[in-house]
Amino acid sequence: MTRPFTFPGLATRVVFGHGTLAQVPEEVARLGHSRALVLSTPQQEAQAQALAAALGARAAGVFAGATMHTPVEVTDTAVAAYAAMRADCVVSLGGGSTTGLGKAIATRTGADQVVVPTTYAGSEMTDILGETAGGEKTTRRDASIRPEVVVYDVDLTLTLPVGLTVTSALNAIAHAMEGFYAPDRHPITEALSRDAMTAFARALPVLVKNPTDAAARADALYAAWGCSTTLGHVTMALHHKLAHVLGGSFGLPHAETHAVLLPHTTAYNEGAVDGLLTPIRDSFGHGTAAKGLWHFAKACAAPLRLADLGLTEADLDRATDIATRNPYANPRPVTRDGIRHLLQNAYDGECP
Ligand code: NAD
Repeated sequence: MTRPFTFPGLATRVVFGHGTLAQVPEEVARLGHSRALVLSTPQQEAQAQALAAALGARAAGVFAGATMHTPVEVTDTAVAAYAAMRADCVVSLGGGSTTGLGKAIATRTGADQVVVPTTYAGSEMTDILGETAGGEKTTRRDASIRPEVVVYDVDLTLTLPVGLTVTSALNAIAHAMEGFYAPDRHPITEALSRDAMTAFARALPVLVKNPTDAAARADALYAAWGCSTTLGHVTMALHHKLAHVLGGSFGLPHAETHAVLLPHTTAYNEGAVDGLLTPIRDSFGHGTAAKGLWHFAKACAAPLRLADLGLTEADLDRATDIATRNPYANPRPVTRDGIRHLLQNAYDGECP
C-alpha cells in the first residue's frame, strides 16, 4: 500500500560519471564564483594541488589540513585561510573528513560548496555536520550545511584501499538501513536505497578481488549516492546514535565502527519494523537482513568485532549508559538491557 508522504525535493545538483573531475571549473563558474579554496586531507594534497592547477584563475588556493571528526581548531584555521585568500567558495576533494571541513566553512561563511567524494561514506548529499570541540562531538542539521553541487568521478575511487572501500560502503548501507524504517521516509529514498543495496551486493565482492574494476567502482559510487541522499532526507535512529557514542566518547574509527555495528543494530530493529528491511534481506540472503549483512561483511573481510577496534569489555557498561541517557525515536524501544546485549554481541562479533 502506498503511504502518504511529503517529499522535500532534492536541493543538490549532481554530476556523475568517469573523468567528471574535469567539470569542476565549469561547476564553480556555473555557481557564479571565481575564487575556489580547494580542500583535502594531507594524504590527498597532490590531487588537491592538481585540481587547483586545473581551476587556474578560478582557484584561490589549497588548504590540505582536513582531518577526522572536523575539530573546530582546524576549521578556525581554514576559515582564516578562506578569508585571507579572499575565496568565494570551497571545493572539497576527498572523503567524509574533507566534506565535513567544507561544510564547517560553509555554515560559518555562507560559502557555496562543490564536493568531489572519493569514498562511499555518504556525507556529501546531507545537511548534517558533526564537529569536535574539547574532545566532544556534536552533530547538527541546517540548510546552510548542504552542498550545492556534488561531482562524482568514478575514476577517483579506483585508488580507494580495499579496507576503506568495504567499511565506507557498510557505512553507506547503514544510512539506507535506517532510511528503510525512518518515520519520514518517502518513495524517493526508498527507491534509491533499494537500488543501492542491489548495486553494493553486486559490486563489493568484485572490488575485494579487483579494486580497479571500473564497472564495479561505478556501481558502488552510484550506490553511495543513493545512500547519501537517503541520509540527507530522513531521520536516523539507534544505529547512528550508537556509532556516534562509540566514535565520540571512545575514539573508535568511524567507518569500521559503522561496519561492526550494522548487523547488530539491524537485528535489534528488524523484528519491530514489519518487513521494511526486506530489500536488505533479499539483496544479501541468509534469511534475515541482519544475518545477510553479517555474512556479507565477513565475506568482504570487514572487521566484525568491537574488541578489534580498541574497545575494552569494561567500556561496554559506560557505552550503554551514554547511549541510553537521552531518549530518542527508534522502532523498537531502547532499553538498557537491550543495548547492553547488542553491544556485547558486537564486541564478540558473533552472527546475530
Ligand atoms: P576520511 O575522509 O577520513 O578518509 C580516510 C582516509 O582515506 C584519508 O586519509 C583520505 O585522504 C583517504 N582517502 C579518501 N579517499 C581516497 C581515495 N579514493 N584514494 C586514496 N585515499 C583516499 O574517511 P570517510 O570514511 O570517508 O569519512 C569519515 C568522516 O565522515 C567521519 O568524520 C564522519 O563523521 C564523517 N561523515 C559525515 C556524514 C554526514 O552526513 N555529516 C556522513 C558520513 C560520514
